[in-house]
Amino acid sequence: MTDWNTRTKLVHSGTRRSRYAEMSEAIYLTQGFVYASAEEAESRFIESGPDEFIYARYGNPTVRMFEERMAAIEGTEDAFATASGMAAVNGALTSLLKAGDHVVAARALFGSCLYVLDILGRFGVEVSLVDGTDLGQWRKAMRSETRAVFLESVSNPTLEVIDVQSVCEIAHAKGALVIVDNVFATPIFSRAVALGADIVVYSATKHIDGSGRCLGGVVCGSKAYIRKVLEPYLKHTGAALSPFNAWVLLKGLETLDLRVRQQAASALRIAEALAGHEKLAQVIFPGLASHPHHAIAMAQMGAGGTVVTLDVKGGQAGAFRFLDALQIVKISNNLGDARSIITHPATTTHQRLTPQKRDELGITPGMVRFSLGIEDCDDLLGDVENALDAV
Ligand SMILES: *Cc1c(COP(=O)(O)O)cnc(C)c1O
Repeated sequence: MTDWNTRTKLVHSGTRRSRYAEMSEAIYLTQGFVYASAEEAESRFIESGPDEFIYARYGNPTVRMFEERMAAIEGTEDAFATASGMAAVNGALTSLLKAGDHVVAARALFGSCLYVLDILGRFGVEVSLVDGTDLGQWRKAMRSETRAVFLESVSNPTLEVIDVQSVCEIAHAKGALVIVDNVFATPIFSRAVALGADIVVYSATKHIDGSGRCLGGVVCGSKAYIRKVLEPYLKHTGAALSPFNAWVLLKGLETLDLRVRQQAASALRIAEALAGHEKLAQVIFPGLASHPHHAIAMAQMGAGGTVVTLDVKGGQAGAFRFLDALQIVKISNNLGDARSIITHPATTTHQRLTPQKRDELGITPGMVRFSLGIEDCDDLLGDVENALDAV
């Protein structure tokens, strides 16, 4: 099974068939499991076999299929699924850390990830934030008590690409584990494990579902970490993924490669077509040769991703006029959906930050984050060009 290519794993890995040999994965919508005897219940609580479950907060056959498929795709020994991407981020960090530990994280993070780092501070974990693209800052921030390094491999919404391999070398030299939030890279373009990442986290809400239906998350890593460190924390704190949502995500994985490659092709075409447009101050896309981290993006993802960030001239007023004139592209804050989605970070996802903080992160008033869907690319380009005319 390990020598299958990703597209085969996306369809087949982790499948467990019941005695009915159903083709499509079954939804085991059950919280508990019946034991044949008191002795069996006792022995299962001591140690459960691979086909034995106790309680859906600990594990469930449909959820297990999703976990095994994700581990197979990511190239890790195991995975643990969670109710949302944030439950995965929180679990990955909190399960590892204790008071007195130190964490180094890239400062350009999803707002809720920054919030989780703030909570860690309340419990005596010290956090240092660095400019993720500056290896000197990573080196300087590392200490003997640094236990973990946390980063988004491609930052939101400015699409900076962090050199994962170099950061892993710096962290490992100090004995720290590297946790990569890989949402923007997607499992399709991820080489995080080959680059040295110890733990890879996804919000499955994004490309993995890909149709805007449910929340989900997953943490991928070694068997020792997933089963001995993460699972005890998550199974007792209640972030379990619903079996129904696990089934939705399994269906999403079947078409993930097709969707993400189409989205990435459209992103590149739109970025190329819009570069130098008179209504745009900037087109940011790691797949463009003009992007400052283009070489790193190509080496570690082989593509620029599925999101393009545009800086509309005329600041917030210009950006709003552009968004309001779009017909096909929807205004919303999700990404990775089959539908093209656009958002204005300064007034939505990054509203909580002060103007100076947004400045520091390069989030301008005219900036919009454009997540490419799987619609016809000519239609999308037409929609965007028409809307830019309205600016
Ligand atoms: C969306 C997102 C999350 C959180 O995922 P949810 O499923 O919304 O909880 C975490 N990190 C990144 C980079 C994201 O884009």
